[in-house]
Amino acid sequence: MKNVKHLQCINCGKTYPAEPGVYTCPDCGPADGILDVIYDYDYIAKNYSKDYFANNKNYSIWRYEPFLPVQPDGPKPTLRVGWSPLYRTKALAEAIGLENLYMKDDGQNPTASLKDRASAIAVAKAAEEKAPIIACSSTGNAASSLAGNAASIGIKTCIFVPGRAPQGKVAQLRIFGANVISVQGSYEDAFKLSAAAIERYGWYNRNAAINPYLVEGKKTVTLEICEQMNWQVPDWIVFSVGDGCTIAGAWKGYVDLYKAGFIDRLPKVAGVQAEGCAPLTKAFHSGKKFEPTEENTIADSIAVGVPRNAEKALRAVRESKGTFINVSDEEILAAMRLLGNTSGIFGEPAGVAGLAGLKKLVANGTIGKHETVVCAVTGNGLKDVNNAIKAAGEPIKVKPDLDELFSVLEGIPGLVS
Ligand SMILES: *Cc1c(COP(=O)(O)O)cnc(C)c1O
Ligand SMILES: [Zn+2]
Repeated sequence: MKNVKHLQCINCGKTYPAEPGVYTCPDCGPADGILDVIYDYDYIAKNYSKDYFANNKNYSIWRYEPFLPVQPDGPKPTLRVGWSPLYRTKALAEAIGLENLYMKDDGQNPTASLKDRASAIAVAKAAEEKAPIIACSSTGNAASSLAGNAASIGIKTCIFVPGRAPQGKVAQLRIFGANVISVQGSYEDAFKLSAAAIERYGWYNRNAAINPYLVEGKKTVTLEICEQMNWQVPDWIVFSVGDGCTIAGAWKGYVDLYKAGFIDRLPKVAGVQAEGCAPLTKAFHSGKKFEPTEENTIADSIAVGVPRNAEKALRAVRESKGTFINVSDEEILAAMRLLGNTSGIFGEPAGVAGLAGLKKLVANGTIGKHETVVCAVTGNGLKDVNNAIKAAGEPIKVKPDLDELFSVLEGIPGLVS
């Protein structure tokens, strides 16, 4: 990998070669010694340009290979991950008081969440190392994306999910042939059990933060956004936050492009957590280390009481001069409705939490009306239809009877004249 210099501990700054088996800094331990992938930006700048990307016909995350820590022409999962649509959503913008709002619909990935970006890299790395089995613990989407991407090239998976994971996600896991362990406890419980099993059996580890390559996969979301906006940088990017890997990746994408000379400014980053589980919002505003919290929200994908990538996430938001905000479950359900009604995009609760937060940040003046904003929908609503029905309500039921039908239709405002 000519484009990668080394891995660097975000805690002590020590560097390590980007080699198989190196996950975290041995001096700082797996909780604090999280590694960053450092690139040779001169090499990238010398060998790649905006024209290179403009002429690249590979419409998946692999078009960004110059910015990814994988062997050129190495083994890759075969699903088409990435290059999801970026919509300019005018009606939605107007509804929340903005002039320029873009929504990145990452629910359109093959297993229907942004996690495919990280899992595709994890599976590529595992294939490079010829690992027979990959394991992870997940609130649900990391699991289904790992299972799908691994299935595409015949690698076995062992996956730990908390008992509350929605049926849609568990169904995906089973269909992709994963060995699924449903831990009757919290996500934190699932994480701990998976860590012990991974250690004992020597499986390839796709756990958030522990594996330094996941953030690199997630950063492709902003590499894409940047290219889709013709290399114009928005004022703000807004993401929902659980472990913190996604928002750290989103920031890293812009930082890498900046360091390689593709852009000349950086956006501010807003992180959104659920009120019932917001250790990072609290840590950000208090300036202290996060405290473990309960996991009390319908947004299961961001119900993370002990975030594994706290430091990278906090650092991203601080460096960008951005902010963190919380949203209630009611605000999340309202955002799900608003997004679907005004744009035709269907997000799961954690997938629209970013939008719910954005609405509040505009209302309280943190984000100005004239500022350009990109907000990600991180997961598809079909994964969790129970909450979608909770958000939008049941349909109108009629008996197979015309009189009843006409009287019902004439009672709906604006439908018949
Ligand atoms: C995982 C996930 C997030 C948050 O990503 P983290 O890396 O855990 O912060 C947000 N939305 C959805 C749909 C997710 O699956
Ligand atoms: Zn260290």
